[in-house]
Amino acid sequence: MPNMSLEKVKMPEQAPDIRNHNFEEVAKGYTKEMAMEEATRCLNCKNPLCKKGCPVGVPIPEFIAEVAKGNFEKAYEIITTENALPAICGRVCPQENQCEGKCVRGFKGEPVGIGRLERFVADYHMQHATAAPSPVAANHHKVAIIGSGPAGLTCAGELAKKGYEVTVFEALHKTGGVLVYGIPEFRLPKDLVQKEVDTIKALGVDFETNVVVGRSITIDELQEQGYEAIFVGTGAGLPRFQNIPGENLNGVYAANEFLTRVNLMKGYEFPQHPTPVKISDTVCVIGAGNVAMDAARTAKRLGAKEVYIVYRRGEQEIPARAEEVHHAKEEGIIFKLLTNPTRINGEDGWVKSMECVEMELGEPDASGRRRPIKKEGSEFTIETGTVIVAIGQSPNPLIRQTTPGLDTQSWGGIIVDEETMKTSKEGVYAGGDAVSGAATVILAMGAGKKAAKAIDEALSQQ
Ligand SMILES: Cc1cc2nc3c(=O)[nH]c(=O)nc-3n(C[C@H](O)[C@H](O)[C@H](O)COP(=O)(O)OP(=O)(O)OC[C@H]3O[C@@H](n4cnc5c(N)ncnc54)[C@H](O)[C@@H]3O)c2cc1C
Repeated sequence: MPNMSLEKVKMPEQAPDIRNHNFEEVAKGYTKEMAMEEATRCLNCKNPLCKKGCPVGVPIPEFIAEVAKGNFEKAYEIITTENALPAICGRVCPQENQCEGKCVRGFKGEPVGIGRLERFVADYHMQHATAAPSPVAANHHKVAIIGSGPAGLTCAGELAKKGYEVTVFEALHKTGGVLVYGIPEFRLPKDLVQKEVDTIKALGVDFETNVVVGRSITIDELQEQGYEAIFVGTGAGLPRFQNIPGENLNGVYAANEFLTRVNLMKGYEFPQHPTPVKISDTVCVIGAGNVAMDAARTAKRLGAKEVYIVYRRGEQEIPARAEEVHHAKEEGIIFKLLTNPTRINGEDGWVKSMECVEMELGEPDASGRRRPIKKEGSEFTIETGTVIVAIGQSPNPLIRQTTPGLDTQSWGGIIVDEETMKTSKEGVYAGGDAVSGAATVILAMGAGKKAAKAIDEALSQQ
């Protein structure tokens, strides 16, 4: 008999007023007993909508059935037939819009905690697995992957499983892309990302860090070196700004720079680590996506007394994952919705305050969201010394500037055939944020998988 409880089994978490002073993971994960109990809430539907909601097609009811029986390693095997990074996806996927958003248990009550179960299974495997996967026999086709984010890692893993000689070229000194330099430790522990990268390494994938393709070597040169296919998974790391007066003052950060200083360069351990992250008592974060939530919650942990999320639309339009918004509110982040910054004022070159205006929502715009309109006479000022801009990112222009024959959109996204992820340049494929603009981990993984399939189809016939 399924467990008909309307609520998910609760996952233990650090209390908000404790966790907003440390960088340890907020959610602690299920125990075996909790996972087995939650798994019994799955109705094992004949036509599982959850699976259709998963961009990489994880066999969800099948793995949950194994969790319910206590066969956790079997559940892991099932998940990893389709998803190479389950510990990551279980933590950061927007499940409410994907698998859990489609779960029939969600029509009345809460959906099955699919993300929590995926996380449990992956963590259980990491704690108990004794053997790493071993490389399969080489087929002597060479493939280069540019970028080690979820798109690149997935493409690399899928091809290595088929015997391809895969080399990943990564610009930074660490592998993992946004998973290491963007998403904070309290949401996604870095040793866990490293373990998932290690699993891909164990398949025989070679990683070369500190290689900026376009500067250290070009795509044409990689082709001359005998790489028969190249996958570009370089992400969208170029920050957008509001273009308001004062954005060049000291104390204004792009969210990516702020988070990189903290995550990758241990800014929170300054001066033991040589990367300073200066913040004032009051911090304003502009934007309300996942990046903005991460920046705001990080600022709080660095000691800011008041942290504002300043967003020009309303609660309904907030693009961040529901869980992140909930956690941010619990941690004391103040949401200034329907508010648009208009100017940042400075003193001696440093931020002193931010001028804002209240907004109201008009008719829907081209994006389908209601257009924010300025409310006359509603101007006000927030005294602040730190402004973090988190209003979106675009692909870095380096690859497009150094790769003749690679067609891109006017905003920088690489143009691909959506089925094969082939670009306009022979032998070059692309996927993830470099194609779509800033999106999600699972969509980047889905693109990496599609490209791997197309590369295999092209090269295995030669
Ligand atoms: C702060 C933050 C929080 C987020 N939170 C979530 C979340 O909760 N859930 C979710 O699903 N998504 C989230 N996202 C979005 C998600 O992380 C991205 O959509 C995803 O990482 C894109 O994967 P990717 O592989 O395309 O690119 P990336 O992860 O950006 O990886 C690209 C890699 O390519 C490397 N690179 C770039 N240029 C070159 C070059 N020329 N040569 C060599 N290497 C290069 C970069 O250094 C990087 O390592 C978040 C993003 C950010 C910034």
